[in-house]
Amino acid sequence: MALDTTSHHATEVQKLNQPIIWSNVIGILLFHLLAVYGLLTLPLLQIRWQTYLWGYFLYLAGGFGVAGGVHRLWTHRTYKAKWPLRIILLVCFSISGQNSVFDWVRDHRIHHKFSETDADPHNANRGFFFSHVGWLMQRKHPEVLRRGRQVDMSDVLADPLVRFHNKYFSLLKMLFCFFVPVVVPPLLWSEGWYNSAMGVGILRYVLLLNAAWSVNSLAHIWGGKPYDREISPTENVLVTWLTAGEGWHNYHHAIPWDYKAAELGPSTVNWTTYLIEMFSRIGWAYDLKTPSPDLIRRLVERRGDGTHYKWGAGIMGTAGITKQIDDEFQKWGAARELAEESQ
Ligand SMILES: [Zn+2]
Ligand SMILES: [Zn+2]
Repeated sequence: MALDTTSHHATEVQKLNQPIIWSNVIGILLFHLLAVYGLLTLPLLQIRWQTYLWGYFLYLAGGFGVAGGVHRLWTHRTYKAKWPLRIILLVCFSISGQNSVFDWVRDHRIHHKFSETDADPHNANRGFFFSHVGWLMQRKHPEVLRRGRQVDMSDVLADPLVRFHNKYFSLLKMLFCFFVPVVVPPLLWSEGWYNSAMGVGILRYVLLLNAAWSVNSLAHIWGGKPYDREISPTENVLVTWLTAGEGWHNYHHAIPWDYKAAELGPSTVNWTTYLIEMFSRIGWAYDLKTPSPDLIRRLVERRGDGTHYKWGAGIMGTAGITKQIDDEFQKWGAARELAEESQ
């Protein structure tokens, strides 16, 4: 059979350069199968309430380490943190059991800079599965590698605490993501070892992973775009609930330097914003960056899709009208093409 070198050329190249990493596939699959097995076999009514509380605490702490730490602090520099808070954030990030700080920050910086292109590690144009977890199961696209090498990471590496964390990454992950979470319930309130390992170890870990991944998949596919209709990221309430406040993703991509990663404050299910503000009261978080309401309004009016809660269609006017004109223009274009074709 002759090789087809013309059609599907781009996809072929992609496949050739992105071999599957089978150890990752098996690892991720195994954890998910164990999580499902745990759900089916755990005696949910007999597990002690302290264990549920502990699991929920770990889930939120891990979420805070990702959202408040690697994301809003180290990737985007939306605020500054003194060393006690940075230690808390690194411990919390270890609880989440994700990649190293270095890898996380580099991947996320190119995700913002090259969203929805070949250089985006979890390019949502390649579908839900790829942007959710598939991207972790294969070698990175050559463009991701190339752009990744160009990212300035000097600010992250200048932090001695991050350097320490990077050096002992695997050990800290084992300790804070699995060992401590699992041994605490049996030792402190006599929970069964199986319940603790399956529930607090595996299930909590897998749930939080999927929550974090949903920002790249769900919040890049479904939801309104009140701040910038030209980009893929959306405002997704479900993702916000799952991730301690990271689902206001259309806003976040439009203004990535806001410490709230959302227009509004903690009242909009933004647990991470709440904690950053609490730490700023005792001076551990400082120089919190946020835009003026006027800047946001201008953004909404100029680039929004008209779904903004306050300045959307009809109220301040222009956003909704611009959207209407766009839609009309598209319809008109399509109608004209159709008329030309039928002639
Ligand atoms: Zn971001
Ligand atoms: Zn994104």
